Amino acid sequence: MVVDLNNIKPSCWVGEVVFARGAFAKLGEMVKERKKAYSGPAVFFVDHFFASAGNKLDFSLENGDLCYFVDSSIEPRTEDIDGFTRKVRSSVSGPPSVIIGIGGGCAMDTAKAVSNMLTNDGLAEDYQGWDLVKNPGIFKIGVPTISGTGAEASRTCVMSNKKKGLKLGMNSKFTLFDRLILDPDLSKTVERNQYFYTGMDAYIHCIESLAGSYRNFFADTFSRMTVELCREVFLGSDMMSDENREKLMMASFLGGCAIANSYVGLIHPFSAGLSVVFDTHHCIGNCIAFNALEDFYPDQHREFQKMMQIQGVTLPAGICRNSGTEELRKLMNASLIHEVPLRNALGQDYRKSLPEEKVFSIFKRM
Ligand code: NAD
Ligand code: ZN
Repeated sequence: MVVDLNNIKPSCWVGEVVFARGAFAKLGEMVKERKKAYSGPAVFFVDHFFASAGNKLDFSLENGDLCYFVDSSIEPRTEDIDGFTRKVRSSVSGPPSVIIGIGGGCAMDTAKAVSNMLTNDGLAEDYQGWDLVKNPGIFKIGVPTISGTGAEASRTCVMSNKKKGLKLGMNSKFTLFDRLILDPDLSKTVERNQYFYTGMDAYIHCIESLAGSYRNFFADTFSRMTVELCREVFLGSDMMSDENREKLMMASFLGGCAIANSYVGLIHPFSAGLSVVFDTHHCIGNCIAFNALEDFYPDQHREFQKMMQIQGVTLPAGICRNSGTEELRKLMNASLIHEVPLRNALGQDYRKSLPEEKVFSIFKRM
């Protein structure tokens, strides 16, 4: 494999990782330790699923600590991040000692973004892009409760910005979590279809990366391990057994490490089109897009079908059935704007493989 030495950047990693069933019980102790060393309260961002009485997680707030529930029915928008940042600033006199994100990609990305915004001036949208964050954020602990996106391991936090028509993260080494608690027991309560859609994000990231042309042995190794673990989980009899939830949590983490050092391919751009036009959520959007991209990923598509069948998972059908030319064009533009992954998948002349009628027919199949 030939490497372009001018393009090598050091890779960054989350600070510390605890991986064990039941490890969530350690959170209280970690927060206390932080607060002993640094003044300021702890600020929790927790997925709204855990707000209701029957679903409460076992952690307690001390005097001055703040807890916000994140509504993951809407993926994070820049104005949500600015709103949370304002609320924290107005509730505490100095910087918090620690920020904790508990949930899926939405809650974890919110925690990462607010942590950065508390130590950097301006608005969240000012930092959508690469390496724009100037100061390290507040120390942050990530606790995924659903596995697949790799948000726990990545150096970005995805936010949509309707005003600018953008869905883009704060890509920065300061966005990485300082510590992770990976406790597979936390994903027990995830609804089966959602568990599958989010889990498939890890598989999709890595099959796209491995089928692309920008390759490096470092990311490939993580990708292969991720794909192998996903196969064990989704081709096994019960994807949600204790053992398989453990495997998928590891796959998600490794997939996040892989994708931080490589690129996705065709599926993510098509999914982004759905997200811009229909507000389709990331992971289900990926599955819908993947389902229509058989021509480009035939072997992987066959495996994906088998996984759905074994796990008894269904996908919504006909999402673009009634789309007219104008809507199809919007979908196409929102997808083809993602030049880097498309080039990774199809080469410099990617538009030749994706003429308008081809793109329309792919969307019509969704
Ligand atoms: P999510 O945060 O969208 O949550 C999905 C659903 O699962 C929600 O209904 C939530 O309430 C529920 N849920 C979560 N944990 C649960 C539990 N233990 N029990 C019951 N229900 C539970 O989940 P996601 O799919 O992990 O995240 C998608 C988000 O992640 C999108 O906003 C996407 O843009 C982002 N993302 C970020 C990165 C990154 O690197 N930062 C990468 C990919 C995707
Ligand atoms: Zn993804």
